[in-house]
Amino acid sequence: MSADIAFIGLGNMGLPMAQNLVKAGYSVSGHDLVKASVDKLVETGGVTEADAMAAVTKAKVVITMLPASKHVESIYLGDKGILANIKPGTLLIDCSTIAPESARKVAAAALEKGFTMLDAPVSGGTGGATAGTLTFMVGGTDDGFGLARPYLEKMGKAIYHAGGSGSGQTVKVCNNMLLGILMIGTSEAIRLGIANGMDPKVLSEVMSKSSGRNWTLEVYNPCPGVMETAPASKGYAGGFGVDLMLKDLGLAVENALATGSSVPMGSLARNLYDIHSKSGAGGLDFSSVFNMLAKAK
Ligand code: NAD
Repeated sequence: MSADIAFIGLGNMGLPMAQNLVKAGYSVSGHDLVKASVDKLVETGGVTEADAMAAVTKAKVVITMLPASKHVESIYLGDKGILANIKPGTLLIDCSTIAPESARKVAAAALEKGFTMLDAPVSGGTGGATAGTLTFMVGGTDDGFGLARPYLEKMGKAIYHAGGSGSGQTVKVCNNMLLGILMIGTSEAIRLGIANGMDPKVLSEVMSKSSGRNWTLEVYNPCPGVMETAPASKGYAGGFGVDLMLKDLGLAVENALATGSSVPMGSLARNLYDIHSKSGAGGLDFSSVFNMLAKAK
């Protein structure tokens, strides 16, 4: 049986996203370098495929959720790539976070072959991927957006058409640069309060109702024990890794250089997450940057 949707990249985000498409009634074949991830999708209703690439070539929609630009370019482009092998009319949706120029390059190559391709990166983390409440920021044509929307709605709650090709990635890069900066600022403020004898819960609650309020303070507090559901209270496990934040800040700084923009805070944030990653924290949630700011004992 051939699937409606071929979903490539069943990692922390891709697997629950693909599972939500299955729950919505689509037949979905999953593909990943890690066989155990494909098995997990099959266990939860995904289609079993003997030949992964053949399944991709038969699908009506191909969705990718891969780590970075190089993975996306290599899987779509070239003689063995998706674009050279899919059937006419296949809709292509890349949900990975990659460089806007890389998204435009792959979409232009798709258009040259007559395919509609959208960049549709997401916000909302693994919790949002599981709950089907992701925010999608989509770049591409109006028609393409209309075709992709029914699928995106099964994985997300807020679906925005940001503009032409690459716009989804531009919004994502801007958002994550701000998020990375805010997490460091929130951590500094809480550390300062603690150093003055404040209870971080009380401090966070008051700041959440004051002008310093922001998502990292209210929903994803970096101080262990303040918020039961936040990664900080679970040993900084799961969530959004330091190395992924580092990647996104790298995209922001690269893009700023290419467009002549000034991002002094974004550059500083990138350097701080880089130092944090090199200290061995790359796999922890990015809110663990709070630990970097601990007072010397
Ligand atoms: P992940 O590393 O958990 O998953 C990526 C998956 O892609 C892995 O399972 C890997 O085996 C697979 N893969 C790599 N190359 C492949 C190939 N050639 N063929 C098939 N599979 C391949 O990463 P993730 O956390 O799921 O993130 C995916 C993307 O979503 C990234 O671009 C990330 O920046 C973005 N993102 C992540 C989060 C988050 O909270 N984790 C939030 C928003 C956006």
